[in-house]
Amino acid sequence: MPQSQDTVLNHILTSAQLPTLPAMAMQLLELTSREDASIADIVNCITHDIALSAKILKVANSSFYNFRQKINSINQAVVLLGINAVRSLVLNFTFLSLGKQPANSRFNLRMFWERSLADATAAKMLAAHAPGIDPDNLFTIGLLQNVGQLIFALLAPNRYDSVLERLAASDRNTDETALEEEMFAISHAALGAEVVKIWGLPSAILEAIRHHHDPDAYAGGDPHEQAIVDIVFLSGLVADILYARDPEGQHRKFHEEAERRLGLDDLARNGLLAVIHSEINQAARFFEVPVNAVRPVSEILHEANIRLSMLQLSYEEIHRELIRAKLELESVRRRLLEKNLLLEQLANIDSLTEVCNHRYFQTFLHSEINRTISNHGCLSLILADIDHFKRFNDTYGHQSGDFILKELCQVAKNAIRQYDLIARYGGEEFAFVLPELEGDSAMVVANRLCQTIADHDFFDGYRHYHVTLSLGVACARPDAGFKQTGFIDQADRALYRAKNLGRNQAILYQPSSLQAA
Ligand code: GH3
Ligand code: MG
Ligand code: MG
Repeated sequence: MPQSQDTVLNHILTSAQLPTLPAMAMQLLELTSREDASIADIVNCITHDIALSAKILKVANSSFYNFRQKINSINQAVVLLGINAVRSLVLNFTFLSLGKQPANSRFNLRMFWERSLADATAAKMLAAHAPGIDPDNLFTIGLLQNVGQLIFALLAPNRYDSVLERLAASDRNTDETALEEEMFAISHAALGAEVVKIWGLPSAILEAIRHHHDPDAYAGGDPHEQAIVDIVFLSGLVADILYARDPEGQHRKFHEEAERRLGLDDLARNGLLAVIHSEINQAARFFEVPVNAVRPVSEILHEANIRLSMLQLSYEEIHRELIRAKLELESVRRRLLEKNLLLEQLANIDSLTEVCNHRYFQTFLHSEINRTISNHGCLSLILADIDHFKRFNDTYGHQSGDFILKELCQVAKNAIRQYDLIARYGGEEFAFVLPELEGDSAMVVANRLCQTIADHDFFDGYRHYHVTLSLGVACARPDAGFKQTGFIDQADRALYRAKNLGRNQAILYQPSSLQAA
């Protein structure tokens, strides 16, 4: 037999498990409701809780209040922010620490407070548009509007789990209130109002909680209270856009209701929705509530829109749409791969001469040495340096110098095999890696390079230049202990000797013959 509302309510309200407010919060509520309470009494009451006082000062000094002056004490906070604001802060922190996650339950305490923080933030922002309504107070009421759900989850976890289960399985229009009344004989809104009454909160809070799903049912006739009820109702719609299954429907409803109840114009409504996510994330930081980053309304609506348009498609259309999306994805992936490849290549290329750079030269030489070791073969290396290049720059300018570097690389490229490497070693020095070439053959290549450059007519459209190269050649049959730096050093020494012997020539590294150089 279904229990009557009174029986259930009585059972809950007298339960030992019903969360109570800490003594300090109760005392503060009592003090602030009295005409004769002094600021000193209030400060005294709050400062008894040192940890809470520190948290309050942190928020008081944050951009939650945007107060320019630094607030150093609770006394200063009460004087500068006002009794209402400080009382709200105490209550916010008190409420946010209420409850414990029930074991094995669908109810998620962290999500509950995240959603409540969204309600609170929206209520505070809406209050800023309503004359005579205190935004701090509305934040607190917003935070508490669904406290009845928390009480259900804490006191009747199993039965509330089946409410949540039925809501999750049902369509989006299922009436939460009706379902709660069926299961508990009372809705979370009515229960929440009764609980905050016991906690000694003022009647405006109580009325707003009781009617937050149905503001027109408020029959108190006080316009101030009606405005609070309306704002709390609207704050729930804003949070529904962020958390409910039908964000588009809630979005439409919010626009209609906010215009009708608060007279909010387009600009004000859209302005609020544009920043609500960042305001909630900020409030979460100030009140130390762990939240998943709240997403912008625009993003949520966009996603809902895509989901909706998919729903309206026929099976074939969905199929076509999926194929199109898959093709699109593949082409994006291909373009990305090509871009990556290009980036990789660019990282290995010298931007002026467009031949490989020093970094790539070292990598290439390293892998060629390893390959040659396993083949038991040989490998040659040429280092080439332009003769008297400084004079070119000094005489014709840097741009002519650059032209020569570029042109020289093009000419040299044509004088080597396809699988040889040409790289800019640095400045006006170039390296050539010649796999599988003995010293004699490498000398043939080096002499050919030397001759080709000396014979080439470097012409930039204005002048003809004569350029010569000096080249040092090293050849090796590397083994396991082979040193790459030693190999380069050999080619460098041969190059040095070519310079000393008069430039415009190639010299092969031979340890004994170089000793005299
Ligand atoms: P040597 O025959 O002994 O090699 O004489 P050199 O003048 O070629 O040698 P040195 O090392 O004294 O001068 C090298 C010059 O190369 C100096 C520098 O300005 C020039 N150089 C290096 N990199 C670039 C470049 O990217 N562009 C131009 N235009 N000049 C460069
Ligand atoms: Mg030089
Ligand atoms: Mg040099």
